[in-house]
Amino acid sequence: MNVIFLGPPGAGKGTLASRLVASTGLDHLSTGDMLREEIKNNTELGKEAKQYIDEGKLVPDTLIIDMVKQRLSHTKAGVMFDGFPRTVAQAKALDGITTIDAVINLSTTVNVVIDRIGGRRLCKQCGAVYNVSWYSKSLCEKCGGELYTRADDTEETIKKRFDVYLAETAPLIDYYRDKQLVHDIDANGDIQEKIDAISAIIESVK
Ligand code: AMP
Repeated sequence: MNVIFLGPPGAGKGTLASRLVASTGLDHLSTGDMLREEIKNNTELGKEAKQYIDEGKLVPDTLIIDMVKQRLSHTKAGVMFDGFPRTVAQAKALDGITTIDAVINLSTTVNVVIDRIGGRRLCKQCGAVYNVSWYSKSLCEKCGGELYTRADDTEETIKKRFDVYLAETAPLIDYYRDKQLVHDIDANGDIQEKIDAISAIIESVK
């Protein structure tokens, strides 16, 4: 079974999906993480993607779709898609590759997003996500790696990414509502309540 996490940047898609891997047995596929890995490894795809990411723009559909297709060809488990699809063209391409069982729509506002992303820190080694509001150390508690702020987590780029979300990704809510796949979750709620609610949704569509 496959689940999509939909929502603006900073809605908590990555945090929630990573917290649900162990209990659901689903693979966590984050196109943002995959692109950051390509950039770290200085690949051709990484070099091309970086210019778009740094400006808060979307990476072209063809690059993303090819990258996801390749990754899915190595994946046997069901998948939690985080940050993909982000356009209707990507959603249509995904329909041609696999079946989607549920779409978790995490809703929030631009001000909450700016607050959250502004305090976000990532581990250089394992990619774990922290926020200065609840974690003040400079090293990762999981692997000891150094924490850093993403280059695209500036207030200006966050606003741009939110606008891009509204223009290009939000239409997917109706795309999947028409297919009766959407489950709405308030992204501003308590983390454990959100995990419990999403677990129950995944259980019910399994
Ligand atoms: P994320 O980690 O999901 O916030 O993604 C960071 C950045 O990577 C985005 O702002 C985009 O520039 C790029 N990106 C990630 N996923 C996609 C996608 N599915 N389509 C286009 N660009 C993407």
